[in-house]
Amino acid sequence: MKNKHKTTSFIFLEFCIILMYLFSFYETGIFAGSVSPFVYFFEIVMTILTITGISICINTSNRMSNIDSLTEIGNVNWIMAKGGKMHFLKKLSQYTAIFLNMKDSKYMNEKFGNAMGDQLIHDYAQNLQSYIKKKGFVGRMGGDNFYIFVKNEYLDEFIEHLKNIVFTVQYDNTPISYQVKVRCGIFPVTDDIEYREIINHTSTALAIAKETGVDFVEYEESMQKDFLAERQILDDFKNALEHNEFVPYYQPKVDSKTEKLCGAEALVRWIKNGEVISPAAFIPILEKNNRITELDFYIFEQMCKDLRNWIDSGLEPVCISSNFSKKHLKDENFAEEIIQIMNQYSLDGRYIEVELTESSCMEDFQFLKQFSTKIKRAGIKLAIDDFGTGYSSLSMLHEFDADVIKLDKSFLYSALAGNDRSKVFVQDVIRMVENLNEITLCEGVETKAQLNFLKEAGCNIIQGYYFDKPLPRDAFEKRMKEPEYEKRKGE
Ligand code: C2E
Ligand code: MG
Ligand code: MG
Repeated sequence: MKNKHKTTSFIFLEFCIILMYLFSFYETGIFAGSVSPFVYFFEIVMTILTITGISICINTSNRMSNIDSLTEIGNVNWIMAKGGKMHFLKKLSQYTAIFLNMKDSKYMNEKFGNAMGDQLIHDYAQNLQSYIKKKGFVGRMGGDNFYIFVKNEYLDEFIEHLKNIVFTVQYDNTPISYQVKVRCGIFPVTDDIEYREIINHTSTALAIAKETGVDFVEYEESMQKDFLAERQILDDFKNALEHNEFVPYYQPKVDSKTEKLCGAEALVRWIKNGEVISPAAFIPILEKNNRITELDFYIFEQMCKDLRNWIDSGLEPVCISSNFSKKHLKDENFAEEIIQIMNQYSLDGRYIEVELTESSCMEDFQFLKQFSTKIKRAGIKLAIDDFGTGYSSLSMLHEFDADVIKLDKSFLYSALAGNDRSKVFVQDVIRMVENLNEITLCEGVETKAQLNFLKEAGCNIIQGYYFDKPLPRDAFEKRMKEPEYEKRKGE
């Protein structure tokens, strides 16, 4: 429709110009006529027509620069300028700002082709435009993103509308119903805030919606802080890896019978400007952003390097476990990559144990079985971490032969706090694991009472502050040289 406007006005302008030329030819005597009052009149009319033509053209081209060519609704310049102007006039606080992203447009393009994808975006935009009319205004930000200012009293109704937009698309000559799924960052506008902050807040809320899978997220103050902290960690991560800021600490594992060092767990620490940062502050962020696998292999390699150095210096190291995120379970070469690093440092598999959390193991039993077969062939042990916290711990034990079961500390704590069910649970899991010829380890052991309870229940290995916290490499090396723990009296 807009293109039609443009063409008409250009034709009109050109027509005027041609007439002007004809007229000037006439005036200069090319048509050998004499100048009459009609000529003056004609000249005036021509000038008016020319000016009108030019102004229509300017108008149209202005409108064109505000219209998105695919969807025929306002584009990013238009919506941002309109919102900005209303905010300047203090009229925007009656509105809620919404940054909207269509969820499946990439999938649509892949499945139905780009033309159908474009058509969908066009139809969707038109749907928004015709719904919103006097309730607000909408523009396309580009791609499958839209920006909407909707009057506060229509917000709930509008969101309901968004949840129910269904199109019928033709696929292989068959009509298919397609529900458009979206996610939105929402911010009710206030007058006391800068315009760009409004846009930032909706972007932050949209980013949270993408991360959390919650489709409609309203901005909250705390989000910006968390979001910036998260960005900072991701920005610093690559640099920190290159500058060796991540190091493994080693937490000793102790044989419950002999109270002698029998292993360790490598736990990552980020040493930043001399400060030791615990993994809780960065592991979940790296996991969410798919950067954890790099860190896992890095820590594993540092651990292999340390093992090699200890062996070369004549020290017989204990077996050390390394934590791997569930994100690796999508990597077909996961086992091969572990074995390759182990071989690079010419290590025997008996020095190495891989820890996977119980919840990650539940996702793909088949993959896990193949993975475990491969690493066991290389002599590497497999431990199931945080056992008991998942929903199918029993089927996990039934289906799958791990080497070590690491009982989550929460059961120990509640057993010792007088919860009889937890007591029975811990005792029976230990018994069952023993009958399956696997090893039980209990983490988080802090007190003598906990230790005694676990010893009585038959737990094989103890890990916890009672014996040692995670230690820096040198302190752990010293511990390996003095593996006996002194019996503490009077505890
Ligand atoms: P996790 O693998 O279950 O490790 C045990 C956690 O319990 C460690 O926390 C350890 O310091 C802590 N802990 C040990 N003994 C005690 C105790 O007696 N009392 C208490 N309250 N806590 C104890 P940390 O080092 O903060 O690690 C937390 C989690 O971070 C680990 O839990 C593991 O899931 C993850 N993590 C650590 N390093 C890595 C890594 O390199 N890769 C991956 N993917 N995850 C890691
Ligand atoms: Mg662990
Ligand atoms: Mg654990």
